Amino acid sequence: MSHSDPFQAPPEYAPRSTLVRSCTACGACCAAPDIAALNKPLGVPCVHLDFGCLCRIYESRPGVCRNYRPDWVCGEVAPLPTLERRVERFLAIYGLESELPGDRAP
Ligand code: SF4
Ligand code: SF4
Repeated sequence: MSHSDPFQAPPEYAPRSTLVRSCTACGACCAAPDIAALNKPLGVPCVHLDFGCLCRIYESRPGVCRNYRPDWVCGEVAPLPTLERRVERFLAIYGLESELPGDRAP
């Protein structure tokens, strides 16, 4: 099956939401993945993420952030009510929960 729509969940995932088709600034992708360019560990919010889940250095953010594109994962994480839940879901989708250090494991 063609998978040209980045907002269409892959067939192996049962999508919980199809409503999100653009970035809603939920903060999950600034908190869940490890980002080497920022020396940011897995599961820890970026130091530049403010309490409203916006980037404090948006105009000068690194290339890895500029190049990030929203996709179907946004629909899975953005509707969740807290950043913590969004991060948990993001890591679960990518099977990364087990890579969290013990003190941050869910
Ligand atoms: S996970 Fe998606 S909706 Fe949330 S901030 Fe990142 S790009 Fe935007
Ligand atoms: S620098 Fe900004 S855009 Fe990049 S991860 Fe941090 S808060 Fe997000």
